[in-house]
Amino acid sequence: MAFFLFVSIFPSVRSNLNKLPTRTYIYLSLAIGILALFGVYFKGYEYSTDGEFKLLAAPPIGVFMLHAAFSIGWGVKRLISRYRVAAGVLRNQLLYLITASILLLVLVPLTNFLLPIAFKNNTFISLSPIYTFLFASIIAYAIVRQKLFDIRLVVARSAAYALVLATLGVIYGGLVFSVSRIIFSGSDISELVRQAINVIFALFLVFSIQPIKRFFDRYTNRLFYRDAYDSQAVLDEINALLTSQISLKIITHDSLRIVCHNLKVNGGHFLVMEKASIYRTASYGQLPESITFVHPEDLKLFKKNMIFVDNLTRGEAKEFLDKHGLSVILRLVTQDGVVGYIFLSGKQSGNIYSQQDIDLLGILSDELAIAVQNARAFEEIQQFNITLQQKIDEATRELRRVNTRLRELDKTKDEFISMASHQLRTPLTAVKGYLSMVLDGDTGPVKKSQKEMVQKAFSGAQRMVYLIGDMLNVSRLQTGKFVIENHPTNLADLVEGEIAQLQETAAARNLKLVYHRPDKFPDLNLDETKIRQVVMNFIDNAIFYTPSGGSVTTELTASEGEARFTVTDTGIGIPAAVQHRLFSKFYRADNARKMRPDGTGLGLFMAKKAIAAQGGATIFKSTEGKGSTFGFSFPLKKSSSQHEVAALKT
Ligand code: ADP
Repeated sequence: MAFFLFVSIFPSVRSNLNKLPTRTYIYLSLAIGILALFGVYFKGYEYSTDGEFKLLAAPPIGVFMLHAAFSIGWGVKRLISRYRVAAGVLRNQLLYLITASILLLVLVPLTNFLLPIAFKNNTFISLSPIYTFLFASIIAYAIVRQKLFDIRLVVARSAAYALVLATLGVIYGGLVFSVSRIIFSGSDISELVRQAINVIFALFLVFSIQPIKRFFDRYTNRLFYRDAYDSQAVLDEINALLTSQISLKIITHDSLRIVCHNLKVNGGHFLVMEKASIYRTASYGQLPESITFVHPEDLKLFKKNMIFVDNLTRGEAKEFLDKHGLSVILRLVTQDGVVGYIFLSGKQSGNIYSQQDIDLLGILSDELAIAVQNARAFEEIQQFNITLQQKIDEATRELRRVNTRLRELDKTKDEFISMASHQLRTPLTAVKGYLSMVLDGDTGPVKKSQKEMVQKAFSGAQRMVYLIGDMLNVSRLQTGKFVIENHPTNLADLVEGEIAQLQETAAARNLKLVYHRPDKFPDLNLDETKIRQVVMNFIDNAIFYTPSGGSVTTELTASEGEARFTVTDTGIGIPAAVQHRLFSKFYRADNARKMRPDGTGLGLFMAKKAIAAQGGATIFKSTEGKGSTFGFSFPLKKSSSQHEVAALKT
């Protein structure tokens, strides 16, 4: 049974002893063994006539032998089936074990049972120690050449025990000797005291064994187990690294360092994969130069997650490992596939990788695989951020460039408008002047039909003057040349003049243009040209945006400390939804576009600027389809006669 259990767990635990057949076998074996104590297998003994000692077997001996044969057979079968699948060092170890076991387990029953029974001669039994010796020799050879056992454990423990014994012997001997020689010499001390002292010494001995043993254990461990390390401590160190670092470079390099340092490995190499090609490597310690040039194709040789050169007998993978002087290949795998490889060279001590190393590297591969995957994802995000930033910078630069260009174009346009308006104004003034002279009859009497036409031409020219005025003002605003020059101005006269000019137009459109002129109106300090433009603009709009048959009422009042001018029409009005956009440059409502396609959208914009520049407030109210009121108000204290100049720039 012991042999069977031994091969089940040695040299590496493979079989599960907890399975029902195995458990039944163990209990049965124990029962068979215990029965031997009650003389079940032998009836007794006798001396033959020639005085030879003879055991008399009882029938149950058959059960005993059957069990022995079964145990040996099952054990050897287990060894052989493991030998078949084993490779490398393990295969050699098993071969030695099988040879030794078969030798022992075939020869011993032969000489102990079969030959004595066959020849009725017990002398063969005395041969069995020789087989045991042979068995021990083969195992010893396997230990030395194939690293079957960790022989150091045996040596270290033996050395520790020897040292403990020697130390205790010296201490105890010295104590007893000195006490009996120095204290007890000559004096006759009672036996009782002597015994008591001995008991005290014995107690001292008992209590000092453990501390002394611990001391030597530690000492011998250090001597024989230079390679020893604490797996948990290594795992903790790696975990601390992985929780504190996300940089792939640091993770690969430092994890290699921790593994190589603790497992006392000569060197290591870390490959991180990117779409089937290597994209990052890290190295630690001494490694052959060749390993840094691993081709991605070579990596296809490795079909297992952990490959130890000690377990390989031949094959391409082994050739690869031998060529590059490597001992271990770990493949880092996540559910997304292989993320990297770790190559490790041999151990500094020249020992093979132990079961502890294998277990630890197994756990580490899983952890590092996930860590590498995370770090890679993090790098991708970071890279993405960088690209994004570059794209934004590029786009911003492009926008700035376009913006500058637009500003230049805008400036050119302003200059063009300004220039064109100036150029148009002079000939237009001449046209207007001559038409006015014709109308006034300076060139002789004008026929009624002629007068009507000339009047229309004059209104058109007048409108053009105002349009040009608007355009000039806009370009002046742009260039900062929009200057307000205030003089005492009589608004009542000014409005009357404008109304008079527009009466003809209103009549032509079948509109009633009414003006409520106040009896008395104070002079206000205003820029006459600009306020005239505003007044004319409001009335002109009212006429053009009111369908025929409607009315336009102009009102000028001075009360409660303010002067108020309003133009109220019964026209198309302005939709509530777009009212907030009124007074902005070039804005024209849709209903207005239909009614008067040739508008500019500059009049209200300029009016508001001009009113504000002179310290006034714009008045506006409108209901779509019903009519609108436009106007302005100025505080009456503006009526002082001082001369003011103000500049306004948008
Ligand atoms: P324009 O009259 O050349 O279009 P304005 O700046 O004078 O430019 O007017 C801007 C817009 O305001 C007009 O297109 C129109 O939509 C609206 N608007 C101005 N006055 C009136 C009004 N009396 N009735 C209806 N809509 C008006």
